[in-house]
Amino acid sequence: MTSTRTAAKAFWLAGRQATGEDTFEVTHPWDGTVVATVSVPTEAQVEEAVSAATAVQAGFAASPAHVRAAALDHVSKRLAERSEEIARLITAENGKPIKWARGEVGRAVSVFRWAAEEARRFNGGDAQRLDTDAGGVGRLAVTRRFPRGVVLGIAPFNFPLNLVAHKVAPAIAVGAPIILKPAPATPLSALLLGELLAETDLPAGSWSVLTVPNDRMPALVQDERLPVISFTGSDTVGFAIQQSVPHKHTTLELGGNAAAVVLADYSSDADLEWAATRIATFANYQAGQSCISVQRVIADASVYDRLVEKVVAKVKAQVTGDPSDDATDVGPLVSEDAAKRVESWVDDAVAKGAKLVTGGARDGASYAPTVIADLPDDAILATAEVFGPVLSLHKANGTDEAFAAVNDSKFGLQAGVFTHDLKTAFRAHRELEVGGVIIGDAPSYRADQMPYGGVKASGVGREGVAYAMDDYTYERVLVLTGL
Ligand code: NAD
Repeated sequence: MTSTRTAAKAFWLAGRQATGEDTFEVTHPWDGTVVATVSVPTEAQVEEAVSAATAVQAGFAASPAHVRAAALDHVSKRLAERSEEIARLITAENGKPIKWARGEVGRAVSVFRWAAEEARRFNGGDAQRLDTDAGGVGRLAVTRRFPRGVVLGIAPFNFPLNLVAHKVAPAIAVGAPIILKPAPATPLSALLLGELLAETDLPAGSWSVLTVPNDRMPALVQDERLPVISFTGSDTVGFAIQQSVPHKHTTLELGGNAAAVVLADYSSDADLEWAATRIATFANYQAGQSCISVQRVIADASVYDRLVEKVVAKVKAQVTGDPSDDATDVGPLVSEDAAKRVESWVDDAVAKGAKLVTGGARDGASYAPTVIADLPDDAILATAEVFGPVLSLHKANGTDEAFAAVNDSKFGLQAGVFTHDLKTAFRAHRELEVGGVIIGDAPSYRADQMPYGGVKASGVGREGVAYAMDDYTYERVLVLTGL
């Protein structure tokens, strides 16, 4: 960190721009150029943001739904209007290929639009007579959902706009103030979102985007005025936060090592062509830096060889390079350190006996799309989340063995199952220990309005606009007596 203030990009403190004393640099993962110098809030400024959020929380919760919905609609519209500029910013700070960055902006447009719609219909209320028991005669219970309080949203680097949208939009929809903390590598999209929020009539204290460094986050996490923590990131950081504040309402959207299963009935040439295309694409999109990238292929022995031939050909054909180029399929990882970690894990697997089918080369922050076979159980890659463009191949004898292999993981986020059989689809839904099963496609499909989250080390709770709105609120009962 440096202490120059020159042209530092401001953060958002209670709805207005502010700068602190320190700064940090955001660099382009592709060429290492400095994209922006960003200001860091002082402790006093963080205190001001939390106090402002606390001060407006009752008023914001009681504010008319149509006013909050209008603000959300405005942000959605403005994201769409500025979509190309924002996509280019995502590519610059994160390194993801521009075609995927455009897709991310499109998703955020929808998230804000859905939040506006949900804000209009959010009720969560119920009324019931209590005279089914003698003690309830003459009483009526009314339930309504109220915000739990100010939300602390902590976002990861890999979807710097859309995963921020998933925290901010539902908070506004229910009238809960939010303090958002973007990832240090990728704060620029969140800061730009602040520009759009600032164009609305939302109360000043109801939102802040604070670029707080990691070593100062424990104080915010511990702050009793922030009873809700919505965290998306690694399991290590997420569970440490939860354990440090067990009394808080904490949602953890964590990592995974998602599997794509190809079963025996998915065997025509066209079937395998589709499965291979989807697997190769979603193993390496965003250089594998998605929590539901395909990390493992588990193919029935009867289709394994034909599938692998197609997957490897497609991986080899992927265009790697400058992420701002429309033709690029696979860009750099978020940093050279991230690429070095992936390289060391592949080297570890090969040293322990894995076969490198293709890839395995690093150039700065870029790592070649890589396919590995015969992965030994003691390799780091066999159990950890790689979060890089590395796919491992596994053969299974039948559906029992394939599903057991999916569940043989500490993670459980999503799984993809290529089958045409309806019974097998329902069986996968019943038996796979994950938050979502995608039939006929890779595990990497996420519709932003559906409940999304994991089991086991993949997390606790669900996002998805309406589900996050439930999460940020709780039911409070009102009993009317003497009726
Ligand atoms: P990370 O855990 O390193 O960081 C996530 C956020 O936590 C960042 O904003 C970081 O600054 C902050 N942070 C770090 N230390 C902290 C502390 N002590 N207290 C509070 N906050 C702290 O994760 P990352 O590298 O940014 O993201 C990659 C991870 O996120 C992967 O594991 C990926 O699978 C996961 N992820 C999960 C989902 C999901 O929805 N399940 C979606 C995207 C990414």
